[in-house]
Amino acid sequence: MNEIKCTIIQDVLPLYIDEVVSQDTKEMVDEHLRHCHICQQEYDSMKQNLYLPVEKPSPLFNTISKKFRKKKVVISIVSVLVTAIILTGAFSYVFHYKTVIPYSESLIKIETHDDNQLVSRYFGESYAGFNGTHPLPLEIDGEKKNVSFIYYTKTIADSPTRKLINNENSLNEQEYTFNLPESEKIDAVYYVDFDVEKIAREDSWDSLLKRAVLIWEK
Ligand SMILES: [Zn+2]
Repeated sequence: MNEIKCTIIQDVLPLYIDEVVSQDTKEMVDEHLRHCHICQQEYDSMKQNLYLPVEKPSPLFNTISKKFRKKKVVISIVSVLVTAIILTGAFSYVFHYKTVIPYSESLIKIETHDDNQLVSRYFGESYAGFNGTHPLPLEIDGEKKNVSFIYYTKTIADSPTRKLINNENSLNEQEYTFNLPESEKIDAVYYVDFDVEKIAREDSWDSLLKRAVLIWEK
Protein backbone atom coordinates (compact mmCIF):
# COMPACT_ATOMS: atom_id res chain seq x y z
CA MET A 1 0.00 0.00 0.00
CA ASN A 2 1.23 3.51 -0.74
CA GLU A 3 2.52 5.41 2.22
CA ILE A 4 0.58 8.62 2.62
CA LYS A 5 2.59 11.54 3.89
CA CYS A 6 1.95 12.53 7.49
CA THR A 7 1.59 16.16 6.49
CA ILE A 8 -1.34 15.26 4.24
CA ILE A 9 -3.01 13.30 7.01
CA GLN A 10 -2.49 16.13 9.46
CA ASP A 11 -3.95 18.61 6.99
CA VAL A 12 -7.22 16.71 6.85
CA LEU A 13 -7.37 15.80 10.55
CA PRO A 14 -9.57 18.78 11.53
CA LEU A 15 -12.10 17.78 8.85
CA TYR A 16 -11.79 14.14 9.87
CA ILE A 17 -12.53 15.05 13.48
CA ASP A 18 -15.49 17.14 12.32
CA GLU A 19 -16.67 14.09 10.35
CA VAL A 20 -17.06 16.02 7.14
CA VAL A 21 -14.66 13.94 5.05
CA SER A 22 -15.67 11.43 2.40
CA GLN A 23 -15.81 7.72 3.25
CA ASP A 24 -12.61 7.15 1.25
CA THR A 25 -10.71 9.84 3.11
CA LYS A 26 -12.04 8.56 6.39
CA GLU A 27 -10.78 5.07 5.66
CA MET A 28 -7.44 6.41 4.54
CA VAL A 29 -7.02 8.39 7.77
CA ASP A 30 -8.27 5.46 9.88
CA GLU A 31 -5.70 3.21 8.27
CA HIS A 32 -2.90 5.71 8.68
CA LEU A 33 -3.70 6.41 12.32
CA ARG A 34 -3.56 2.71 13.08
CA HIS A 35 0.05 2.57 12.04
CA CYS A 36 1.42 6.06 12.60
CA HIS A 37 2.15 6.99 16.18
CA ILE A 38 3.02 10.61 15.36
CA CYS A 39 -0.25 11.30 13.58
CA GLN A 40 -2.14 9.44 16.28
CA GLN A 41 -0.68 11.81 18.86
CA GLU A 42 -1.44 14.80 16.68
CA TYR A 43 -4.98 13.51 16.35
CA ASP A 44 -5.38 13.02 20.10
CA SER A 45 -4.26 16.52 20.94
CA MET A 46 -6.31 18.06 18.12
CA LYS A 47 -9.36 16.14 19.19
CA GLN A 48 -9.04 17.37 22.75
CA ASN A 49 -9.08 20.90 21.46
CA LEU A 50 -11.72 20.47 18.80
CA TYR A 51 -13.86 17.73 20.15
CA LEU A 52 -16.54 18.94 22.54
CA PRO A 53 -17.28 16.24 25.06
CA VAL A 54 -20.98 16.82 24.75
CA GLU A 55 -23.90 15.49 22.86
CA LYS A 56 -24.49 16.98 19.49
CA PRO A 57 -27.35 19.40 18.99
CA SER A 58 -30.47 18.03 17.35
CA PRO A 59 -29.84 15.92 14.23
CA LEU A 60 -31.64 18.46 12.06
CA PHE A 61 -29.41 21.28 13.17
CA ASN A 62 -26.36 19.10 12.80
CA THR A 63 -27.23 17.94 9.29
CA ILE A 64 -27.80 21.45 8.10
CA SER A 65 -24.57 22.81 9.47
CA LYS A 66 -22.64 19.83 8.08
CA LYS A 67 -24.01 20.44 4.62
CA PHE A 68 -22.99 24.06 4.76
CA ARG A 69 -19.50 23.24 5.82
CA LYS A 70 -19.16 20.56 3.20
CA LYS A 71 -20.20 22.67 0.28
CA LYS A 72 -18.59 25.78 1.66
CA VAL A 73 -21.75 27.63 0.81
CA VAL A 74 -21.75 31.31 1.55
CA ILE A 75 -24.70 31.60 3.82
CA SER A 76 -27.30 33.93 2.50
CA ILE A 77 -30.68 32.69 3.51
CA VAL A 78 -33.94 34.43 4.08
CA SER A 79 -34.23 35.58 7.64
CA VAL A 80 -37.15 33.29 8.39
CA LEU A 81 -35.02 30.20 7.87
CA VAL A 82 -32.16 31.65 9.84
CA THR A 83 -34.47 32.44 12.70
CA ALA A 84 -35.88 28.93 12.61
CA ILE A 85 -32.42 27.41 12.73
CA ILE A 86 -31.32 29.69 15.52
CA LEU A 87 -34.41 28.87 17.53
CA THR A 88 -33.95 25.13 17.02
CA GLY A 89 -30.31 25.46 17.92
CA ALA A 90 -30.99 27.59 20.97
CA PHE A 91 -33.66 25.22 22.18
CA SER A 92 -31.38 22.23 21.75
CA TYR A 93 -28.58 24.08 23.37
CA VAL A 94 -30.47 25.12 26.47
CA PHE A 95 -32.24 21.83 27.13
CA HIS A 96 -30.22 19.11 25.46
CA TYR A 97 -26.68 20.35 25.01
CA LYS A 98 -24.86 18.57 27.74
CA THR A 99 -21.62 19.79 29.14
CA VAL A 100 -19.42 17.85 31.47
CA ILE A 101 -19.52 18.95 35.08
CA PRO A 102 -15.90 19.51 36.12
CA TYR A 103 -14.81 17.35 39.00
CA SER A 104 -14.80 18.91 42.43
CA GLU A 105 -14.29 17.12 45.72
CA SER A 106 -17.25 18.86 47.30
CA LEU A 107 -19.59 18.03 44.41
CA ILE A 108 -18.96 14.39 43.72
CA LYS A 109 -18.15 11.76 46.28
CA ILE A 110 -17.66 8.01 46.07
CA GLU A 111 -18.87 6.18 49.12
CA THR A 112 -18.59 2.58 50.18
CA HIS A 113 -21.79 1.18 51.59
CA ASP A 114 -22.20 -1.68 54.07
CA ASP A 115 -23.14 -4.15 51.38
CA ASN A 116 -19.79 -3.58 49.75
CA GLN A 117 -21.26 -1.45 47.00
CA LEU A 118 -19.68 1.67 45.65
CA VAL A 119 -22.05 4.59 45.35
CA SER A 120 -21.38 7.81 43.52
CA ARG A 121 -23.17 10.77 45.06
CA TYR A 122 -23.68 14.18 43.57
CA PHE A 123 -24.05 17.17 45.87
CA GLY A 124 -24.68 19.91 43.30
CA GLU A 125 -27.93 21.55 42.32
CA SER A 126 -28.85 19.29 39.43
CA TYR A 127 -27.37 17.31 36.64
CA ALA A 128 -28.63 15.81 33.41
CA GLY A 129 -26.78 12.54 33.27
CA PHE A 130 -24.38 10.12 34.85
CA ASN A 131 -21.95 8.05 32.80
CA GLY A 132 -19.88 5.23 34.16
CA THR A 133 -17.94 2.28 32.83
CA HIS A 134 -17.71 -1.24 34.10
CA PRO A 135 -14.36 -1.96 35.73
CA LEU A 136 -11.68 -2.21 33.08
CA PRO A 137 -8.37 -3.97 33.60
CA LEU A 138 -5.64 -1.39 32.97
CA GLU A 139 -1.99 -1.24 33.82
CA ILE A 140 -1.15 1.63 36.14
CA ASP A 141 2.45 2.14 37.26
CA GLY A 142 3.20 -1.42 36.31
CA GLU A 143 0.25 -2.82 38.28
CA LYS A 144 -2.88 -4.37 36.84
CA LYS A 145 -5.90 -2.54 38.23
CA ASN A 146 -9.62 -2.66 37.66
CA VAL A 147 -10.63 0.88 36.87
CA SER A 148 -13.99 2.56 36.39
CA PHE A 149 -14.41 5.92 34.70
CA ILE A 150 -17.34 8.18 35.53
CA TYR A 151 -18.59 11.67 34.77
CA TYR A 152 -21.68 13.79 35.23
CA THR A 153 -23.23 16.08 32.67
CA LYS A 154 -25.53 19.06 32.95
CA THR A 155 -27.63 21.17 30.64
CA ILE A 156 -28.06 24.93 30.86
CA ALA A 157 -31.66 24.47 31.92
CA ASP A 158 -33.77 21.52 32.93
CA SER A 159 -36.10 20.53 30.12
CA PRO A 160 -39.80 20.96 30.93
CA THR A 161 -40.31 17.20 30.79
CA ARG A 162 -37.49 16.51 33.19
CA LYS A 163 -38.91 19.04 35.64
CA LEU A 164 -42.26 17.31 35.39
CA ILE A 165 -40.81 13.87 36.02
CA ASN A 166 -38.85 15.14 38.99
CA ASN A 167 -41.89 16.77 40.51
CA GLU A 168 -43.96 13.67 40.08
CA ASN A 169 -41.45 11.55 41.89
CA SER A 170 -40.66 14.38 44.28
CA LEU A 171 -37.03 13.40 44.21
CA ASN A 172 -34.46 15.26 46.13
CA GLU A 173 -31.80 15.79 43.50
CA GLN A 174 -29.00 16.10 46.01
CA GLU A 175 -29.65 12.56 47.13
CA TYR A 176 -29.31 10.83 43.79
CA THR A 177 -27.09 7.83 44.13
CA PHE A 178 -25.73 5.54 41.51
CA ASN A 179 -24.54 2.10 42.22
CA LEU A 180 -21.23 1.29 40.71
CA PRO A 181 -20.19 -2.34 40.42
CA GLU A 182 -19.16 -4.12 43.60
CA SER A 183 -16.19 -2.40 45.14
CA GLU A 184 -14.21 -5.57 45.54
CA LYS A 185 -13.96 -5.74 41.79
CA ILE A 186 -12.82 -2.12 41.47
CA ASP A 187 -9.44 -0.84 42.48
CA ALA A 188 -9.92 2.77 41.45
CA VAL A 189 -12.49 5.22 40.13
CA TYR A 190 -11.46 8.03 37.83
CA TYR A 191 -13.39 11.12 36.81
CA VAL A 192 -13.12 12.04 33.15
CA ASP A 193 -15.43 12.59 30.20
CA PHE A 194 -15.28 9.88 27.59
CA ASP A 195 -17.01 8.60 24.50
CA VAL A 196 -17.16 4.82 24.57
CA GLU A 197 -17.57 4.48 20.81
CA LYS A 198 -14.53 6.59 20.05
CA ILE A 199 -12.46 4.74 22.61
CA ALA A 200 -13.50 1.34 21.29
CA ARG A 201 -12.51 2.44 17.80
CA GLU A 202 -9.16 3.88 18.76
CA ASP A 203 -8.28 1.68 21.68
CA SER A 204 -7.17 4.51 23.92
CA TRP A 205 -8.33 3.86 27.46
CA ASP A 206 -4.72 4.45 28.43
CA SER A 207 -4.66 7.91 26.91
CA LEU A 208 -7.96 8.62 28.66
CA LEU A 209 -6.34 7.63 31.93
CA LYS A 210 -3.72 10.34 31.45
CA ARG A 211 -6.25 13.16 31.67
CA ALA A 212 -8.49 11.50 34.27
CA VAL A 213 -8.69 12.51 37.93
CA LEU A 214 -8.34 9.75 40.50
CA ILE A 215 -11.30 10.18 42.87
CA TRP A 216 -11.40 6.89 44.73
CA GLU A 217 -8.93 4.12 45.40
CA LYS A 218 -9.24 0.84 47.26
ZN1 LIG B 1 1.65 9.86 10.00
